[in-house]
Amino acid sequence: MIEQASRLPLFPLTAEINEKDHLVIGGCDMVALAVEFGTPLYVYDEVTLREKCTEFKREFGGRYPTTVNYSCKAFINKAVLKLFAEEGLGLDVVSGGEIGYAQAFGFPMERIDFPGNNKSADELTIALESGIGRIVVDNLDELELLQKIARQLNRRQKILLRLSPGVNPGSHRYETTGNRDSKFGMLMEVAVKAIENTLSIPEVELTGLHFHIGSQVTDTVPYIKAIGIILDFAIEMKEKYGFELRELSVGGGYAHRYILDEKVPSVSDYADAITRTLTEKCQESGLESPQLIIEPGRSMVAGAGVALYTTGTIKDIPGIRRYVSIDGGMADNVLPAFYQVSFEAVLAAKMNYLGTEKVTICGKYCESSDILIRDIVLPEITIGDIIAIPGCGAYNLTESTNYNMSFRPAVVMVKDGDARLIRRRETLDDLTRCDLV
Ligand SMILES: *Cc1c(COP(=O)(O)O)cnc(C)c1O
Repeated sequence: MIEQASRLPLFPLTAEINEKDHLVIGGCDMVALAVEFGTPLYVYDEVTLREKCTEFKREFGGRYPTTVNYSCKAFINKAVLKLFAEEGLGLDVVSGGEIGYAQAFGFPMERIDFPGNNKSADELTIALESGIGRIVVDNLDELELLQKIARQLNRRQKILLRLSPGVNPGSHRYETTGNRDSKFGMLMEVAVKAIENTLSIPEVELTGLHFHIGSQVTDTVPYIKAIGIILDFAIEMKEKYGFELRELSVGGGYAHRYILDEKVPSVSDYADAITRTLTEKCQESGLESPQLIIEPGRSMVAGAGVALYTTGTIKDIPGIRRYVSIDGGMADNVLPAFYQVSFEAVLAAKMNYLGTEKVTICGKYCESSDILIRDIVLPEITIGDIIAIPGCGAYNLTESTNYNMSFRPAVVMVKDGDARLIRRRETLDDLTRCDLV
């Protein structure tokens, strides 16, 4: 038997249960919000978002000089960019589209870094013209292209070199990026060449090194290993070429706890492991301590977001499974199908009920893989119940699609009992306007 309230810790910090037995976030009744805005609905809690910013700044910055760049591919929205700018964060962008979006809303461009394994000439031009902080150069081809563009634009651009330290972060295969067999970053032997080249290119100013080992990395050891490898490399490059490591980005990948059974390090655990390794290693080797850059994406926003759905048809297959269909699914949340993320859920109007039946929550889209949660114990479900899924703040919406000509959901930000629409639900017009007849 599972009381639904036991899942409350997976929800945003302001989550509570009101006298009607309803789930409340940011002072707003989730059942009432579902009625007011319709479902599927994505709800972000402002207090949780701000607290995450504070936590990263405090835990890392309190131990070591750190720049916190939010990796905005996890969730990008005008209201959220504004909030992060207010909190003093920088951004990590991965495309010309994200650069243009941040620029359109007046984000301070000098606080933005731009990694990516295949930046086009257009994207590099947009980046340089926008006055972007740093380009994270991924490979030698890009270095050559960047030099050409910087020369044309008569600019000197700050860069970091992205290295592939060859450590395995142990997360899902599709979430790993820093192992040897990866499309991202330079192998160490290639990086030597890049350093050699960079030092003779007047159009770029090499300020340091970058790595990003993967996403949902549930252990601190891969960071410790990678920092060791990269610092050894920096020491060697200093001796050989006089290279000064002024900045070191250790990327993102900090894990979010999606389900109660999952154990993940706290921000403090990551901060402790990373800054301790960095400090000790620099002391040992006599290397001057570089400014640390971190790029959290998922861990910054996943926990602040909740998805609300309405239940529809229920299919019983005796002795096998009970399928409960909802009015969303893989179009707004592809994570379970894409890299097997497990979610939990509650019935938002029955928070103090005991879970009595095992069900599978499936979406409404035409793929058998459109299953959000397999075998979860919930109270008895009827058609029209509101299902709330925590941990939906990262990647759900940015990886969402219009599959089956579905409309991307509305998004609201809640705080102190107010719900502010920060993105309206798409309409048929949004889907037809790009087609030319
Ligand atoms: C995606 C990405 C991040 C963020 O990763 P999370 O797992 O969401 O924290 C950080 N840095 C780079 C280079 C990335 O590509």
